[in-house]
Amino acid sequence: MTETADIVIIGAGIVGCSIAYHLAVQGSVKIVVVEKDLICSGATGKSAGGIRQQFATDLNVRLSLESLQMFHRMRDELGIDPEFRQVGYLFMATTPKELDLFRRQAEFQQQYGIPVRIISTDEIRRILPYVQLDDIIGAAYCPTDGYAAPYEVTMGYASAARRLGVKVHEQRAVTRILREGGQVVGVETPLGPIHAPIVVNAAGAEGGLVGEMAGVKVPVQPYRRQIFVTGPVPEFSQEPPLTIDYHRNWYFRGEMGGCLFSGPKDEESTFNTNVDWEHLAESVANAVARVPILEQAEIKRGWAGSYDLSPDNNAILGAAPELPGFYLATGHSGHGFMHGPATGKLIAELILTGKTSIDISALSFDRFRTGKTVREPMTMHEA
Ligand SMILES: Cc1cc2nc3c(=O)[nH]c(=O)nc-3n(C[C@H](O)[C@H](O)[C@H](O)COP(=O)(O)OP(=O)(O)OC[C@H]3O[C@@H](n4cnc5c(N)ncnc54)[C@H](O)[C@@H]3O)c2cc1C
Repeated sequence: MTETADIVIIGAGIVGCSIAYHLAVQGSVKIVVVEKDLICSGATGKSAGGIRQQFATDLNVRLSLESLQMFHRMRDELGIDPEFRQVGYLFMATTPKELDLFRRQAEFQQQYGIPVRIISTDEIRRILPYVQLDDIIGAAYCPTDGYAAPYEVTMGYASAARRLGVKVHEQRAVTRILREGGQVVGVETPLGPIHAPIVVNAAGAEGGLVGEMAGVKVPVQPYRRQIFVTGPVPEFSQEPPLTIDYHRNWYFRGEMGGCLFSGPKDEESTFNTNVDWEHLAESVANAVARVPILEQAEIKRGWAGSYDLSPDNNAILGAAPELPGFYLATGHSGHGFMHGPATGKLIAELILTGKTSIDISALSFDRFRTGKTVREPMTMHEA
């Protein structure tokens, strides 16, 4: 029997599952999510879970504020504990130029009511007494930022979507996007086609490959990013903010009484997601240089995932050009977990009504043709 749906979503990460849930809440449509692996097995499951409001453009700030409210509502709305810990985000500056950038961005963010402020090294020392601050001259600190649990949140959306009638197929890859008369008509999979007039590319770092299947050049590429986690560190019993060493493009936060910190970052695009254990000593030395107490800590775990980078390090959202029925919600460039809730809500609105409650046109595909790309200095540095 021919399988049909109103909307097929490719990818069951936070973005695909959030879109599916919000479509099911907002309209009575038949929705199928197709995931080649398992729910949350892509970048979402590898993410550090960081949630920040410290962005430099109106749309990214609005996506953060909207998502923040949604993280707060998840217990009631999805019946799950997102484990949202508002430990704050602290961006440390090494040069006057960096601190000046943080100051200007903080002033911009404060206009939205975000409680971010510039703090002195003395105040950083009070918050992080064990951090080496010799070269640090100040920081931007927002106490209502933090992190949450990517797996719980994504499964929360997937389960709630299923309760509302959405079908989520795992271990079923989309191999082709079906087109007819210049329009999308469905997807091909090894288990047969699924016919649908609307297909959403929520394939994360594979958004470029899925774009190719539809004949649309989606400029998203994978870059390996790694994380290591130590065993318990007594000083971390009082949880630190998610702290970013902006100058060295390195971050750490607490994780179950230990320290989670970023590892090496590949400069070349790759789908490789193996942990580079060979260079562990360098990663540890890098961490110890900033947080000397980590010298005593034991590395317990490590993992790697693919950052989903677009040319300007920001998501690509909205209808694909020149292919009616094909939508893009990909290329989140390292902030897709934090913006996943709002992205799902807005893409669902766009598909069902043609309009969105927050104007997402600044992140449309078109910006790469018009040259109106998005400048977000803090997203160049990751987490
Ligand atoms: C190490 C690391 C740390 C990060 N830290 C943060 C952070 O602190 N905060 C933050 O906001 N973001 C962070 N990110 C980025 C974040 O994880 C991503 O932006 C986000 O998860 C993207 O969600 P997604 O649903 O678009 O992609 P994914 O979670 O990758 O989901 C896409 C899914 O599509 C599936 N798929 C792909 N191709 C096909 C196909 N042909 N057929 C069927 N299924 C397909 C994949 O299997 C995958 O499950 C981090 C990423 C990494 C790697």
